[in-house]
Parts: sequence; C-alpha cells; structure tokens
Amino acid sequence: MSWREAARAVPWNIQPFIDGRYRSSNATAFFTNINPASETVLCQFPVGTALDVDEAVRVARRRFEEGCWSELTSLKRADVLRRLADLVVEHKAELALLDTLEMGKPIKAALHDAASFAPMRLRAYAGLADSLLGVSGPLHSNTLSFNTYEPRGVVGAITPWNFPIVNAVIKIAPALAAGNAVVLKPSELSPSSALKLAELALEAGVPEGVFNVVPGLGSTVGMALAQHPDVDLLSFTGSTVTGRKLLELSGRSNGKPVLLECGGKSPQVVFDDVSDLDRVADATVESVVWNQGQVCSARTRLLVHAKVKDALLEKIIRRARQYEPGDPLDEATSFGPLASPAQRDRVKGYIEQGINAGAEAVLRGAIQETRGCYVAPTIFDRVASHMSIVREEIFGPVLCVQCFETEEEAIALANATDYGLAATVWTQEIGRGRRLAHAIKAGDIQIRTSREEGPASGLALSHEPQKASGFGAEIGLKGLQSYSTLKSISFRGA
Ligand code: ADP
Repeated sequence: MSWREAARAVPWNIQPFIDGRYRSSNATAFFTNINPASETVLCQFPVGTALDVDEAVRVARRRFEEGCWSELTSLKRADVLRRLADLVVEHKAELALLDTLEMGKPIKAALHDAASFAPMRLRAYAGLADSLLGVSGPLHSNTLSFNTYEPRGVVGAITPWNFPIVNAVIKIAPALAAGNAVVLKPSELSPSSALKLAELALEAGVPEGVFNVVPGLGSTVGMALAQHPDVDLLSFTGSTVTGRKLLELSGRSNGKPVLLECGGKSPQVVFDDVSDLDRVADATVESVVWNQGQVCSARTRLLVHAKVKDALLEKIIRRARQYEPGDPLDEATSFGPLASPAQRDRVKGYIEQGINAGAEAVLRGAIQETRGCYVAPTIFDRVASHMSIVREEIFGPVLCVQCFETEEEAIALANATDYGLAATVWTQEIGRGRRLAHAIKAGDIQIRTSREEGPASGLALSHEPQKASGFGAEIGLKGLQSYSTLKSISFRGA
C-alpha cells in the first residue's frame, strides 16, 4: 500500500486514553485537525476538559499508590521500556504516518523518528533505570545515613508538535523509568502518535492507568493539568510565554515543581581560523532546515568573522537554495511544509518584519499562501541586534547573519538574546573554544561539531536550559533524577 492509500485508511480516533482504554471526552466543543500539506481536514476531535484531566489524574494517583508500577524493581521497569521500544519500531509506519499527516514532517524523517530517535531514548532510559543510586553518609559505629531516589508520584507532561512521537517519549521514558504514573497532554496539532504510544505501552506491560493521554487544547486540558492539585511534577516543552503561565498556575495550585524547556535563538559562531568552510556551511544549513526549522535548538543566528563572511555566506546560500519544499508523503522529500497555517503566517510575518526593518534578504524563499503551508529557506544579512528577527524565536527556516571582528564581540553577540538553549562554535584554537563554551550563556554547547557528527551526548549527557529557555535537567541520568525526589534517611543502631 502506498503512503497516500495508507493516509486515506487512517481510522482517526482522538479521545482520552485513560486507565488502559479510550473513553469519550466530556467536551462538547471540537477542534479541527488539519493536514498542513494540503490544508484539508483530517478529523475533528473534542477540545478536552478539566473533568477529563481530573479523571486521568485520579486514575494515575490510584495506580501509583497501588504500586503496580512504582513498586516494581527498576530492572523490571527497564524490561518493559525495552519491549515498548521494540513495539514502537514494529509500528513505525503507522506512527510516522500520523506525525506526517498531522504536522507535515517528511515521511522519511518521521520514519527515522519512530524507528530510531524515539526507541533510542526509550532504551537509553531503560539502561539508566537502575542507576538512581544515592550516597551514604560518613560511617559511624552507631548510625547509618544514606540517600534514596523515589518516584515523585503523578507526573503531568505537556508537549509541543515539532517531534510528536519523540517529544512524548522524551517525557514518558524518564517518568516511567523512575517509577511515576503519567498524564500526558500532547499538542492539539499532533495528538495521535502519543495516543498510539499509550496503546503500545499497555501491550508492552505498563499497567493500565500508569500512562494516560488526554488530548485537547492548552486552554482546556493544558491549564487543568498545570493547576491540578494532585499532580506532583509538571514537565513542559514549548514556548516561553506558555512556560511562564505554567509557573503561575503551579504557584496558584499546589506549588508543584516545573521542568521547563522553552524556546531558543541559538548562535553558530564561526571564527576566521576554520579550516573547512564547506563543513561549516553544511552544518549551518542542516541546522536551519532540519524539521523545516521547527527545532528549539536550531542555530538560527550565524555569527561570523568579517574575514570569512562572504566566502561562507556564498556557500550557505548555494546549499539552502536547494531545499525546495515538497509533498511530505513522497519518500524523496527532505523538506516539507510547516506544521500549520498559523505557523506559516507567523514565519511570513517575521520575514516581512525583517524586510521592513531594513535587513537584506540574500535568499528569500517562496511562501505558498493557500493549500499547503510551504515556506522555503530565507537568509537575512545586515541584521541588527534590536530587530525582532534576531531576538525572537521564529520556528521556521530563517537564518540571520551578523559579523564580528574580535572574540569579545562574538561573545557579546552570542549572548544578545533572552534565550540560552544551545550554541555551536567553530574555531581551530582549543583555548578559544573552551573560553567561548564558558562565556556563552547556554546549556548545550558544541565546538566544531554538527548535530550529525555530535557525540551520543544527546542521550547520555544532561544539560539545563538557561535564561528564557527554561530550567531543569532533562536527558541522561540527571534527567532521570529530575523525575525523582531525593530523600536522606538516617538510622540509629541499637
Ligand atoms: P507552540 O507555540 O510551539 O505551539 P505552545 O507553548 O503554545 O508552543 O504549546 C506547547 C504545548 O503547550 C501544547 O501542548 C499546547 O497545547 C500547550 N499549551 C498552550 N497554552 C497553554 C496554557 N495556557 N496552559 C497549558 N498548556 C498550554
């Protein structure tokens, strides 16, 4: 069956998945799910309600307290997560198709997410599940003191639409590995693969009610989850504006801790001693076009030494021009539409703001206005730090170019946004690389590596976002610890 035939046969079923089965939402209003490649309707689904959330949280609490998951040994939980990884791979075509139809990701990339990216994260947390080791206090003949990590209880998770299946896994894998019960609210633009993941989790052996999914809007389900008094931890990935609202909602309810991974406006800093400008050009373009630029850690600001700017920019423009948007259901497509009409309008608005502010569009990609949310890569030269295109997260294939002459200028430009998520530095001088890694206020720093060449640190090494990009460690062992609570226990001997 071709992808197009398979797309026509999808049995859309977007309802809350609570206690191991689909239930009808209590909502009476509906949200229209749109395919951004054609702007046609895929289905309508209930917007969700606070009552849906309350049912899911009650079930999650009951299951957590029963201990059917939280009291298993960590190795048993790890086995289940590995089985889930295998099932995700087995169902990769179905999962990939759902993500492609709902948010426009090219099917080849969606298959990679389902067959590799998401299962890799599940397996990584399965491997770490047995590593929540505490320290013991100084020895004394009569006392014993030590730390334990324990699950927090009910974790609420709210995810965005840019990597639907991966975003769901990034939240539920550490939460489940640490022994929690979960209520997940996926983005309203792309809820289906998370629902399928919950079905597969049940099949893999996660007990009923331990992993629940409540689809719906931020203003209905998201807010209800954030202010629910019986949620013990809220984990969020999305915009800074929403992240800050969640902090308020937490404060107004039970003061639950919040993990926030918000946006970014990350720099690609290039010094004039780099030996291979082609490699830098490849990495720069790849970072800006990956997922149509809808990646929070995309390096959307090129900060380049004046001496190499012209040569590098010419290489970048030549490469970026080749990204012609295409039908995401075509396996040859590497660059698809943006995720929604709203996203296209947002990116279009920023491009217009850039031009009106006097930036020079050295590459201006075409924007399809109807029947498909296609926006080709755009590159702005001669931008100034005060322009909105340089300060704000666009979440589309738009690169801004700025020049520097000294290391101090490079650092000042790199830090000249509110965000602090990631940065890449290209220099041959190791001391300078280290100095910049220290001076740039961001959590994830790469020196002379592109995303594809990077170490497996995406899985093993944790980092914390800084400034408006959020806080709290995710990924790796520290990420697992974020979903646990730390106790110290002291015994006095007889
Ligand atoms: P984006 O602009 O990338 O969609 P958002 O922060 O708006 O980022 O959305 C990320 C996630 O947060 C989505 O699941 C969305 O439904 C949810 N969300 C949006 N607004 C709220 C809100 N006020 N309260 C809780 N969740 C929200």
